[in-house]
Formats: sequence, structure tokens, C-alpha cells
Amino acid sequence: MVTGTQHKLVYYGNQTLRSVAHEITQVTQEIRDLTDEMFSIMHKEQGIGLAAPQIDVPLQLLVIDIRANKGPMMALINPKITAFADETDGYEEGCLSLPGITAEIIRPVSIQVEGIAINEKPVKFEASGLLARVLQHEIDHLNGKLFIDYLEDYRRKELTAQLKKIKKLNR
Ligand SMILES: [Zn+2]
Repeated sequence: MVTGTQHKLVYYGNQTLRSVAHEITQVTQEIRDLTDEMFSIMHKEQGIGLAAPQIDVPLQLLVIDIRANKGPMMALINPKITAFADETDGYEEGCLSLPGITAEIIRPVSIQVEGIAINEKPVKFEASGLLARVLQHEIDHLNGKLFIDYLEDYRRKELTAQLKKIKKLNR
């Protein structure tokens, strides 16, 4: 399913972006190679986060690199958010699957996350600030959710023409 072939970014309109990604049962060499590939695609596109469904792979895997903001570079397998802070704030989000679109999205300022690291060790940590923001955005991708889903209907309607153009980027 994930072997060999080179993966490419897919865009709004692609079905994998709208499906719930499968859990990874074993961290194989295939998964490690896929993770490397995701890092290189993300870096090439100058993104700060990428989820496997964004390259048409329906697996629960994400990568993040916010070192430019004094944050970590990490890969996370089967991530789950186990707690959300009550406090929320807004932040202008963008997405490699929705090029050219940004919008302020309100999210909890901190979260607790559990998952599996690339070395197969279970991890559990609290994230706040940009890391909490990116994790929530990427974990949404693993559940078939996009940031524009949070917009009010009138705002999404304003994007109709732009979304139509983005759909055509899928080959
Ligand atoms: Zn995204």
C-alpha cells in the first residue's frame, strides 16, 4: 500500500483527505521510509506540518517541524488528543492541501497528546502554543477534517471559486 512509489501532495477534493486514517500496527521500514519522504515533501513545500493523508496515504502518521519557532521536529504515529485546555485562541492557519487559503481558526491553547514515536516507544506529552496548534491541525487530517470545516457557511461560500481551482490540482 505504501511501498516503493514516490508520493505526491494531494489537494482539497481528494477522497483520502476526507477519510479516517488507519492505525499503524507496526513501525516497519516501510513506515520509516514513508516518514522520511513526508519530511522531505514538507520541507520542500515549506510547510510546518504534514499528515500522511495529504500524500494520499490513509495512515495515522504525521510530521512536524517548527524548529524555526524554537519548537521540535517530530514524527508521531497513531496520535490521540486526550485532553484539551478550556482556554482558546485564534491563529491564521494555512494548509498544503489548500494552497492560497488562510483563515483564523479558534482552537484550545494547549492539549495533551499520546501516540507512538518513530522508535516505537509510546509517548505522552503536553503541547502548547504553535506545537498545540499544528498538532490539532494535523490530527484533524487523520480524521478527514480540514481547517475550512471550522469556517462559518458564508465564509466557506466566499471560497467556492478558489476551492474549485484547488480541486483541479489533483491531476
Ligand atoms: Zn493541513
